[in-house]
Amino acid sequence: MASTVVLLRALQGHKLVDTQQGRIAVGWLIVEDVVMVLAIVLLPVLANIMSGGGVTTSTVVYTLGEAVLKVVGFIAVMLLAGKRLIPWVLHWAAHSGSRELFRLAVLSIALGVAFGAAFIFEVSFALGAFFAGMILGETTLSKRAAEETLPLRDAFAVLFFVSVGMLFNPAVVIDQPLPLLATVAIILVGKSVAAYFIVRAFRHPNRTALVVSASLAQIGEFSFILASLGTGLGLIPAEARDLILGGAIISIVANPFIFSIAAGSMVKAGQAAAAHAVALEEKRETDRREHLVLVGYGAVGQLVAAGTRNAGRAIVIIEDQEDIARKAEADGFVVIVGNASDPNVLEEAGIRHASKLVIAIPEGFEAGSIAEHGRALNNRAIVIARAHSDAEVQHLQKHGAHNVVLGEREIADRMLSLAASLRSA
Ligand code: AMP
Repeated sequence: MASTVVLLRALQGHKLVDTQQGRIAVGWLIVEDVVMVLAIVLLPVLANIMSGGGVTTSTVVYTLGEAVLKVVGFIAVMLLAGKRLIPWVLHWAAHSGSRELFRLAVLSIALGVAFGAAFIFEVSFALGAFFAGMILGETTLSKRAAEETLPLRDAFAVLFFVSVGMLFNPAVVIDQPLPLLATVAIILVGKSVAAYFIVRAFRHPNRTALVVSASLAQIGEFSFILASLGTGLGLIPAEARDLILGGAIISIVANPFIFSIAAGSMVKAGQAAAAHAVALEEKRETDRREHLVLVGYGAVGQLVAAGTRNAGRAIVIIEDQEDIARKAEADGFVVIVGNASDPNVLEEAGIRHASKLVIAIPEGFEAGSIAEHGRALNNRAIVIARAHSDAEVQHLQKHGAHNVVLGEREIADRMLSLAASLRSA
């Protein structure tokens, strides 16, 4: 069971999410998740067979059929009822005007659906949570829901890795080096070779097969869940779980390197970036104007971008979220997808020849590092950033921002001037 986080990071890092390779890899993950649900249901039956309990073929078929029906039933309920009910509850909670209520609604939906999935439909918590997330993500309030739950998500992610760390027994590296090597070989070689030939069997090109198999050359969170269940049922010894955990950690560490080689190595990515930069350069040359680099195409960034274009000035946008970057592209802008804290991304946006760097992201401290890199690459560019506190203003100025706009102060100034100039109705 490959890790979704690791796979998506690898694909994003090489800008492959929206390619055929990316789609096959993500599709593969979904199939793995569905198989995982079946495995969780079938493991107890298997345990029964192996302990000599009288299990016939019909019991296995019956259990399997029941599991499939439950999964289908759960999905149907979510698509029919959940899709209407969840946005309605969120909408209602948001319009109540209470932030606590909205936060509580998001959490209750996420946990409630996960719990309902496990309790009523007996599908895994993980699958239930996944569907809740999918439906939350479709609502217009999803951005706010994501923001509200961000700190919790980070906390849970940390807890998850802490719990994995607590399960792992490092002594396995010294006590059982050969079994551990064999486990790693199964993950890195066995899994990838199988994936390679399956993709080839569908007549996809060699490169696609290589990228898909490299992205699957790792195992992650679902493997731990499955391994723990197997240990609990007495199907595998506790040492097997240590080996699986050890193999997972090693394969996750090795994966970025393997992926880079398969995806045509960093060199190709660099070439693509260089080609992109040359294309930008040419476009700029015809413009004959020094352009403005804008970081972030959010609420503020969109207004800055539109204003810059209206003023007839050349602009290149850096945005790290794929969907928002795509929106900027659809709006007709030149966009570099990536995190502007990375100097390579700034270079790609042609910072060396830019006249201005406008950092329109809300995090002042993160903007500080962008300002610093920007100035290091081009000391002539005027750097403008936004902040929410005096501490952020100071930080930004210290790191090279020439002008910092404190949002709250601007809003207060405008309100004061309105209050002073308007008469009562
Ligand atoms: P908002 O929160 O509406 O002001 O939007 C900020 C936008 O900036 C969002 O679309 C973010 O995805 C984007 N963003 C935040 N940090 C970075 C970064 N370091 N590099 C590029 N884009 C960023």
